[in-house]
Amino acid sequence: MEYIRNIIEKQRKFFNENHTKSIEFREKQLELLKEAIKKYEQEIYEALKIDLNKSDIESLMSELYLCIDEIEYAKRHLKRWMRRKYVYTPISQFPSISYKVSEPYGVVAIISPWNYPFLLSIQPLIGAIAAGNCCVLKLSEYAPKVSSIIKKIIECAFQEEYIAVLEGEIEVADALLEQPLDYIFFTGSTQVGKIIMEKAAKHLTPVTLELGGKSPCIIDETVDLSLAAKRIIFGKLLNSGQTCVAPDYIFVQKDLKDKLVEHLIGWIEKMYGSQPLDNENYPKIISKKHYDRLMELMQGEEFVLGGYGKEETLQIAPTILVHVNKQSKVMQEEIFGPILPILTYQSLEEVISHIKEGGKPLALYLFSNDKKVQRKILNSVSFGGGCINDTIMQLTNPKLPFGGVGASGMGQYHGKYSFDTFSHEKSILHKFSLDIPLRYQPFTKSKKWLLKNILKK
Ligand code: NAD
Repeated sequence: MEYIRNIIEKQRKFFNENHTKSIEFREKQLELLKEAIKKYEQEIYEALKIDLNKSDIESLMSELYLCIDEIEYAKRHLKRWMRRKYVYTPISQFPSISYKVSEPYGVVAIISPWNYPFLLSIQPLIGAIAAGNCCVLKLSEYAPKVSSIIKKIIECAFQEEYIAVLEGEIEVADALLEQPLDYIFFTGSTQVGKIIMEKAAKHLTPVTLELGGKSPCIIDETVDLSLAAKRIIFGKLLNSGQTCVAPDYIFVQKDLKDKLVEHLIGWIEKMYGSQPLDNENYPKIISKKHYDRLMELMQGEEFVLGGYGKEETLQIAPTILVHVNKQSKVMQEEIFGPILPILTYQSLEEVISHIKEGGKPLALYLFSNDKKVQRKILNSVSFGGGCINDTIMQLTNPKLPFGGVGASGMGQYHGKYSFDTFSHEKSILHKFSLDIPLRYQPFTKSKKWLLKNILKK
């Protein structure tokens, strides 16, 4: 695909001419991005409504607001992030100072998914801009309306030789990955993440992989069950469960199960009504292919709520599965929909060993007020990030890095972590002219004695 090669070449030239590096340039571009987003705000809501049936308020809360906030945060801190960072220098290097300089990688690619199509394209882009890179955004083919509004926004704010947008299917991503990129930031499935890493290896391009997985939610007897259920339902049903950090399944202490189910059903009805598919603010599943996969996952399972969908609108009712076991189909893959299986445990050890048997989760949510339990889970289980006594909210704090570990990804972003992700840190040892001859040959007796005494531990 010739045009993709042309874009990369144009961007490399633009980057090499040093246009993107000054703080003034970066601040101005962040402001231009913010203005363009504001200009098209209404169209962004309309696009999210068409692609995912998200309400304006859900789109504002979970996509737009987080982008605007991230821009403001980057602008406020950019000067400090770009400063040289002085570090200690060992006495053996006297007289010198040491420091780190953050430099942009160059031409970077951001490949984004469909589930938060606006947020997960624009939020990493803010980091790429703040760090002084040129960027090509490859958007998901499954959210075409949002893709086209993002294209409009980017073209309104930037020249193609600085930031470009690619729409289209896998072939477009493939053609982009053929190019010698300086960094790849990918958000999507673990399966495709592996392909991205393989392709990046060809050019030794560093990657961040923001992937998925099964994020558990653990509940013990020390919490207010109703409040726990309310917060879980919020996290699970946001975007109809199509959220990478949504609680995938619940592990509840055995005796609490029935009470918990009552609360979960109660909160679903309070939030979405008894006919959730008639609720105009209930998001849809992105495509027929994804809808069919979810309907198939429920086959043969026993549910106490939901279990049905509406093919015309691609909506699936909030569904609670109660007799799931570890071998059930629904426990073999990331659900990524409004289906909530409930497993029970008697001892915390069972929970820990179950989680450890699978890939490291992107998120984990623990509902417990017992400090020992909190410590035990945090010390025994590896996962990207999470909450104690809430769901999803870890990603709203720019001071917390967001990213997975193991099968759920590598690298992190948000706030300063985004700037760091899109920057290479150059290490500089800066020597002054006073020259101490100790390290040079010939090694005389006195030099040897001195060196041995200085270097000896
Ligand atoms: P996906 O992996 O199918 O696609 C993501 C992007 O990769 C799309 O732009 C797509 O066009 C491109 N792509 C697909 N196949 C490709 C290939 N063979 N070669 C090159 N590019 C290819 O993911 P999705 O279905 O869009 O998103 C859902 C997944 O993303 C879930 O697993 C979810 O957990 C994960 N996710 C993770 C995060 C996170 O921040 N960790 C956020 C959102 C979604």
